[in-house]
Amino acid sequence: MNADLHCHSTESDGLLSPREVVARAAANGVDLFSLTDHDATSGLEAARAEAKERGLRFVEGVEISVTWHGSTVHIIGLRIDPQSAALREGLESIRRGRATRAQKIAESLSAAGIRGSLEGAHRYADNPELISRAHFARFLVEAGRAPDVKNVFQRYLVKGRPGWVAHQWASLQDAVGWIRAAGGVAVIAHPGRYEYERPEMREFFKEFRNCGGAGIEIVTGAHTPEQYHEFAKSAREFGFLASRGSDYHGKGESHADLGTLPPLPGDLKPVWHDW
Ligand code: AMP
Ligand code: MN
Ligand code: MN
Ligand code: MN
Repeated sequence: MNADLHCHSTESDGLLSPREVVARAAANGVDLFSLTDHDATSGLEAARAEAKERGLRFVEGVEISVTWHGSTVHIIGLRIDPQSAALREGLESIRRGRATRAQKIAESLSAAGIRGSLEGAHRYADNPELISRAHFARFLVEAGRAPDVKNVFQRYLVKGRPGWVAHQWASLQDAVGWIRAAGGVAVIAHPGRYEYERPEMREFFKEFRNCGGAGIEIVTGAHTPEQYHEFAKSAREFGFLASRGSDYHGKGESHADLGTLPPLPGDLKPVWHDW
């Protein structure tokens, strides 16, 4: 099974439209696919239609921004019903927060002598409700502030830099609750990216499980092979289902292309085992 259950379209900070993402997944041999835009489900209808035309199995997904113990984590919802009122309202509240944060980022950049970044970021955003740091990054590259998006993040958009704005996302309990209310399964995205020390990471896994969370990404674009092993151990210990997803955002903005990562360790139970 070539499952890819994590990627982005122009409805959040990806570079391809929902239909284009599905076409690329199909061309790369993916046979079970989910689109998981940040805090938005607006691309799912088009993605499902394209997947149907191509005979590709598709499940509705989303990647929810969460603040836990003062830092940002991402929780993926898979097989969600995008019409669920609880989920829709929750995601709307996060998107409103994004709009406020975008203004603050622009003010912060302006104070550092960079004008027009809010308008600039919007020019790179197809979905005006979903402004991401990635859109600011593309504007800053265009403005000649850094050679590429990766460099721009290091210089401007991370903690301690002029374009950094602290932000409170959803709570872990709310995010998992909305996913479950929408009939979905909640999965911890790219745990290897979180900077918690070991005891705090374990506390995070426990709390996620207590909230009703069920899965963890093992094989994902941001993980090294050592991290596949590390988080496979966590999956065994905490009884989590295992997920695999590239987190593809588009050419030049991704660690991995759709459907190209190694398979999950054979003894783990895949999140799709009973789909
Ligand atoms: P936001 O959710 O608006 O804070 O933006 C986070 C997004 O920015 C992530 O989903 C990535 O797509 C992108 N991103 C975050 N950190 C980096 C980085 N160091 N280099 C490139 N892209 C990044
Ligand atoms: Mn992103
Ligand atoms: Mn993420
Ligand atoms: Mn992602």
